[in-house]
Amino acid sequence: MRRPLVMGNWKLNGSKAMVTELLNGLNAELKGVEGVDVAVAPPVMYLAQAEQLLADSAIKLGAQNVDTHNSGAFTGDISAEMLKDFGATHIIIGHSERREYHQESDEFVAQKFAFLKENGLTPVLCIGESEAQNEAGETLAVCARQLDAVIQSQGVEALNGAIIAYEPIWAIGTGKAATAEQAQEIHAAIRKHIASYSEDVASKVVIQYGGSVKAGNAAELFAMPDIDGALVGGAALDAAGFAAIAKAA
Ligand code: PGA
Repeated sequence: MRRPLVMGNWKLNGSKAMVTELLNGLNAELKGVEGVDVAVAPPVMYLAQAEQLLADSAIKLGAQNVDTHNSGAFTGDISAEMLKDFGATHIIIGHSERREYHQESDEFVAQKFAFLKENGLTPVLCIGESEAQNEAGETLAVCARQLDAVIQSQGVEALNGAIIAYEPIWAIGTGKAATAEQAQEIHAAIRKHIASYSEDVASKVVIQYGGSVKAGNAAELFAMPDIDGALVGGAALDAAGFAAIAKAA
């Protein structure tokens, strides 16, 4: 009953030529594919171009970040209204690269979450532990803390319609994905944590896995009962490879 979402996070990659080639390729590869939502998040520079290329496509458009004001003296910021103006619907927030390189706190990410909801956009909230935290047995505590920043400020119902992406940092870009069993265990624990506030919200919320997902490991991850699609980095830059992941969902 939960519809999986396979989303490409292009990170800081792209050019006009690459955007055209990749999106034309995905449109062709994914025509008629059913039972899965597919989204791409190019760098914001390319949203206008992507919006045009996806005009007749079921592929949804997203972005990799948002700021917390809709207008004003905020040099360098991008607002939710601007993202909406270009047809973006699914907005990644709290990615570990932003938490690490831009010192984004749980509270700041929670503000972004609220801002997206106020503006009718879908937050794709990334959570996940570092390798050291994993080894110290803190995985669930870290994920719960990152989720609680949203739940305790906005209520658990704020998760209705939102997407959670569980991304163990040690698996991102390393080629060392969590095994399907490892990921399932954490996804189930995350869902149980949400269920401690509301079983209804927990049973409906989409929880993607992210971290070295590729065509070769997607099917076994998606076969797990609590894994609802994937947030894909490196493998999202190749049309055939990304389409194969989406088709596995
Ligand atoms: P990866 O990145 O697929 O390249 O590991 C995933 C992500 O950071 O969202």
